[in-house]
Amino acid sequence: MSHQTRPELDGRVAVVTGAASGIGKAIATTLARAGAAVAIADLDLNGARAVAGDIELEGGRAMGVKMDVADEAGVDRNFDAVAAKFGGIDILISNAGIQIVNPIENFSFADWRKVLAVHLDGAFLTTRAALRYMYRHEARGGVIIYTGSVHSHEASPLKSAYVAAKHGLLGLARVVAKEGAAHGVRSHVVCPGFVRTPLVDKQIPEQAREKGISESEVISKVMLGETVDGQFTTVDEVAQTVLFLAAFPSAALTGQSIIVSHGWHMQ
Ligand code: NAD
Repeated sequence: MSHQTRPELDGRVAVVTGAASGIGKAIATTLARAGAAVAIADLDLNGARAVAGDIELEGGRAMGVKMDVADEAGVDRNFDAVAAKFGGIDILISNAGIQIVNPIENFSFADWRKVLAVHLDGAFLTTRAALRYMYRHEARGGVIIYTGSVHSHEASPLKSAYVAAKHGLLGLARVVAKEGAAHGVRSHVVCPGFVRTPLVDKQIPEQAREKGISESEVISKVMLGETVDGQFTTVDEVAQTVLFLAAFPSAALTGQSIIVSHGWHMQ
């Protein structure tokens, strides 16, 4: 008789924001392969539905939802819809993000607010909506993982709003770890180095222009110069880290920031 091992996240329900593209898409696919039902939440509904469709083709459970993480009413409505369809919410991956680069003296207040709205307002609103469901089913516990960045720990020029927002996520995750403990909820920040996604591809020519260097120098010096092996971090490396933390069985690991950056930043 063959022993079938139960997938690690069997019976769990996950919401992954910014999951139509890049890192979020890889996380959503990985969690689904580990047995979770996954809501692919993104501004880009067609993209979200395409990712959900691919997961279903593999035999997983998924739904695409149109969500602006900075819209309070929309976030609450979407979490209600996901919980109604899948029967609760156990895992939140707060991942949606944008980048705007500019030196501070040229950084518009509107751009500053836009970056903080997606990263920090979005993290807060989705956290609150998820916790309300997690606290209702305390026996199941829960986990909230934020996609931070090496920029949660280090600064780079031109990225004032992004660096401020990514540092802010560390504080939010630590509060969630403390408040959530009594309800079986854990929280972490996963901090990737540079990952080759549309968000980074857009920055390469922008940084070359701002810094007056070539695009290949932006890659080899600015982005990968401090890594141990000159390699980009991959979406799968980030997704495997998220899976490990999501499946970890106790609060021995909570309130942590895990850096996945090919040694760019060590703590
Ligand atoms: P990406 O541009 O490939 O994907 C981001 C997704 O977020 C897109 O699908 C976009 O539609 C969605 N999104 C943007 N604003 C949204 C909003 N208001 N509501 C809902 N969805 C929204 O980018 P990525 O590189 O996969 O980035 C994902 C996360 O990883 C971000 O938080 C980013 O800061 C972080 N990160 C990226 C890198 C990297 O090198 N790519 C490194 C460290 C951290």
